[in-house]
Amino acid sequence: GLPTIYAITPTYYRHVQKAELTRISQTLALVPNIHWVVVEDSEEKTDLVRRILNDSNIIFTHLNAKTPPFEQLKDKDPRWKKHRGVEQRNAGLKWLRDHLKVNEDKGVVYFMDDDNTYSIKLFKEISKVKRVGVWPVGLVGGLNAELPILDEKTGKVIGYKSGWKPDRPFAIDMAGFAINLDLILTKLQANFSYKMEHGLQESEFLSFFTTKENLEPLASNCTEVYVWHTRTEKPKINGLIPDLEV
Ligand code: UDP
Ligand code: MN
Repeated sequence: GLPTIYAITPTYYRHVQKAELTRISQTLALVPNIHWVVVEDSEEKTDLVRRILNDSNIIFTHLNAKTPPFEQLKDKDPRWKKHRGVEQRNAGLKWLRDHLKVNEDKGVVYFMDDDNTYSIKLFKEISKVKRVGVWPVGLVGGLNAELPILDEKTGKVIGYKSGWKPDRPFAIDMAGFAINLDLILTKLQANFSYKMEHGLQESEFLSFFTTKENLEPLASNCTEVYVWHTRTEKPKINGLIPDLEV
């Protein structure tokens, strides 16, 4: 049968949160082998997220892990230097490591941000991952898509097309890879950290598990885009309707 896809989604409260989670929950409802691990960036789990999960008919785990105040970030650092989703992704990894068993639970782990756009075709590709799979991500890295470059003869990954630091060890967005569950369960030191350089979270995390040569190119040899790094504009809200969850 299909492996279970453990999709770890960090999420935080803002006006568009319900819209984002509604959109991706309804994508995931079309994926038979999903286990959605939703991690709220909050002190407490919220009713808003609880209701979306309960209404979704998806197998889910609901967690929370609040991002601590950024001691690591110096005052003069610009906002883009902030790492996002670190605490939440680590909480998701910890849950998997605490609750699943090596060689027993067959699965693949995917980091699924709440604001991206996902084709249901992506999850068929993720289901094929043996160790670490990669594919193109649209609308990121300063290009219309960021993608692995394959050797024509061997079909292996030899580099990356990216408009931003293509020389990164793995010039791949968070949405552009998935990792076998047994690897996640055995490489316990593999976590995200605030110490990582801006934009190198993916590279450093992937380095725990694999090398460029061993990546498995998916999505028709990285010629199809099934996920887009969309970002939702912050709406201008001048007033609030009382007693209405939006
Ligand atoms: N996120 C979070 N807390 C924050 C900011 C972001 O949990 O304070 C989540 C967000 O919901 C998303 C992920 O972390 O799932 C990545 O954040 P974002 O999409 O803002 O990052 P970008 O795509 O701009 O790199
Ligand atoms: Mn995003």
